[in-house]
Amino acid sequence: MVPGVRLVVLGKQGAGKGTQAVRLSHHYVVPHVSTGDMLRAAVKAQTPLGRRAKALMDRGELLPDELIMEMVGERMAERDVQTRGLVLDGVPRTVNQAKMLDELLSPARLDLVIDLEVPTSQVLRRLAARRVCVDCGTNYSVFAPPLVNWTCDICGGEVVQREDDTEAAISRRLELYERQTAPLLDWYREAGILVPINGTGSPDVVTQRIIRAVDHRKRRQEGS
Ligand code: AMP
Repeated sequence: MVPGVRLVVLGKQGAGKGTQAVRLSHHYVVPHVSTGDMLRAAVKAQTPLGRRAKALMDRGELLPDELIMEMVGERMAERDVQTRGLVLDGVPRTVNQAKMLDELLSPARLDLVIDLEVPTSQVLRRLAARRVCVDCGTNYSVFAPPLVNWTCDICGGEVVQREDDTEAAISRRLELYERQTAPLLDWYREAGILVPINGTGSPDVVTQRIIRAVDHRKRRQEGS
């Protein structure tokens, strides 16, 4: 077996993917690879990729699979991911991306795909309240803001509402989730690695649920 932990966190917008992916990456001491964070960094740096991505992101549209997987592939070629694994956040978002991911991972494989289940009504409430650090991507909410004056507790960056958290972009992202991303659940269920996790409740409670499921799976794999 190839050593390390390789996880994907799936879920609708606002299901807590980002928060849980960061916590899992700390817990298992593996890199957190978030395509949304990578793209937002490219937008901020005004790279050619960032300029191309911004308009699509602001409208809640998906970027082309090839472009996304090239970016992910470059990150996955780095030593830390090769030796320790990773927690993927925001990718794959289509079955095509999932197939390309399998190739990039080979000969390693994903351990588990976590599907955070949260009802849409709750997701919409969370998204309206969501705030994010522009520098490190840490998520906050108007109900759980940073300690000091909307500066990030982790890195001191400015904490703002995401530009793509408009009503129109949110509903487009949810629509695309149903159409493009939800079929991935069947794909991973058939592969035997999908674990549905109740994503409601406090972030701490959800993290504990995920860690229990991952550890259970890893013990089973190590015993086999
Ligand atoms: P996120 O932070 O994961 O919600 O991503 C923000 C935006 O980046 C999405 O609404 C898409 O426009 C784009 N994006 C991020 N990841 C992907 C992906 N795997 N495939 C296509 N577009 C993506």
